[in-house]
Amino acid sequence: MSMVYQRVALIGLGLIASSMAHAMRQHGLVGQIVGYAKSPETRAAARELFCDKVCDTAAEAVQGADLVLFCVPVGAMGPLAAEIADHLAPGATVTDVGSVKAAVVEAIAPHIPQGVHFIPGHPLAGTEYSGPRSGFATLFQNRWWLLTPLAETDAGALLRLRNLLQGIGANVEEMEIEHHDLVLAVVSHTPHLIAYTMVGVADHMRRVSQQEVIKYSASGFRDFTRIAASDPTMWRDVFLTNKDAVLDILGRFAEELFVLQRAIRMGDGEQLHAYFTRTRAIRRGIIEAGQDTSAPDFGRASPAAGGGKEDKR
Ligand code: NAP
Repeated sequence: MSMVYQRVALIGLGLIASSMAHAMRQHGLVGQIVGYAKSPETRAAARELFCDKVCDTAAEAVQGADLVLFCVPVGAMGPLAAEIADHLAPGATVTDVGSVKAAVVEAIAPHIPQGVHFIPGHPLAGTEYSGPRSGFATLFQNRWWLLTPLAETDAGALLRLRNLLQGIGANVEEMEIEHHDLVLAVVSHTPHLIAYTMVGVADHMRRVSQQEVIKYSASGFRDFTRIAASDPTMWRDVFLTNKDAVLDILGRFAEELFVLQRAIRMGDGEQLHAYFTRTRAIRRGIIEAGQDTSAPDFGRASPAAGGGKEDKR
């Protein structure tokens, strides 16, 4: 595949940025990869693993870049956008990978100068691991990458970004900003909150010791703990910035929970069976759409066999 951008600046050098760097390089899509992250430790690791050049400031990193990619927690994007604004090259594209879109657009767009293209985005791919050593080139393979272009987005700049993302194996789709935040509240944000809560409940249970929870953890609880091991900073920012949509879905969740709670109390097996039959069909749909595996236990290899790097959005 031919080169799409000459110089890419990665702001933030964790899981998503390092995976992007490995993937872009593997597919020969970019010339130079320059990076910046907050801590000297992360910068040193990125220099060693996937960046051609690592800078001590974000402003320096974006100079001369034709693509700037924000890969930091959502709450950090606004101040960084302000910092780089005067240093962006004319004609450059700025994009981000934030899990929330309305708040990110509000934080970044006001700082984007005339002649620079801002195209918000979000890959629906990730793992519970973080940091510059956690990335791998195939993370975005056959995963959705949602773009939420603004009314004024330049068609040429959008096509070029699409080419890069398709080049690393992602399926690119465009979506309205508010719709994105509502859909993600359903498929990702609220499920994470429920997982955090369930693990919290187990932690607080006085009758069952922590040791027993760990020793007897069956696959349902294990999957909750995997999700609940996700980066605290990233997820704090997701809930603080997608508040309305998450509260809406949580309200609906609570209503459904009460329906099932009542069915259990009343011994209404028919209702429970019908409900679980409907939800089972949704799982089948996800497998048919190629978004997960039908293998038992999610096709997870045993840790001894080197497994454990699983996809999670
Ligand atoms: P990560 O592995 O924790 O990496 C975050 C990076 O941001 C680190 O390099 C960190 O630097 C840097 N950073 C944080 N605050 C900063 C600041 N103020 N200035 C400069 N650098 C800063 O996180 P990630 O999983 O790659 O997530 C990055 C973004 O992707 C988030 O917005 C998240 O919503 C989105 N996303 C994540 C997933 C997922 O499953 N992980 C999926 C889709 C989208 P230090 O290491 O020096 O602290």
